[in-house]
Amino acid sequence: MNASSVRVVHGKDGIPIMVRDEMPFFVDRWRDVETGNEYVNEYRLIFSFREGLLVEITQRLEGSTGGFSWEVTPNRLDLESLMRLMGSGSLERIRAKVKEIMRQLTENLDSLFFDPIGDRRRSCYVCESDAFYECIRCNKDVCDQHAVFAETEYMEPLTYCHECFWKAVEDDPA
Ligand SMILES: [Zn+2]
Ligand SMILES: [Zn+2]
Repeated sequence: MNASSVRVVHGKDGIPIMVRDEMPFFVDRWRDVETGNEYVNEYRLIFSFREGLLVEITQRLEGSTGGFSWEVTPNRLDLESLMRLMGSGSLERIRAKVKEIMRQLTENLDSLFFDPIGDRRRSCYVCESDAFYECIRCNKDVCDQHAVFAETEYMEPLTYCHECFWKAVEDDPA
């Protein structure tokens, strides 16, 4: 009975889609009176980020490894299964894990929105504030204050640093 029984299932993009308690909260053994076969039903709690809390029920023939499973919402459980769930600690384990994931997601979101430029941030070579432009001559990064916006004779935009702009004017005093 510990938190390591809780497994997080991620999608292809690495985003968590489901949290599953590997430890069944209820193992129900029963006999089919007609066939005499004995069955084992295992009940596990799942939290799906799309569908919420679910109970996975796996049924197999006693002694076999295979089986099949289906999911129900907790309000569909019979009273005994529900009482087992309440006493198992499974709800608390899943809730703690989901909270942890939500907190990590929130922290990741904060950093994502706080710094959308991230590693590509550049600073102006003149004043070191954020640079969103690059001089076409010397390729240095410049801020809007230290950029000069010009145009070619074909109206194509050109961005220079101040230094290169004046050099360009001297080179081509047209
Ligand atoms: Zn600047
Ligand atoms: Zn320049």
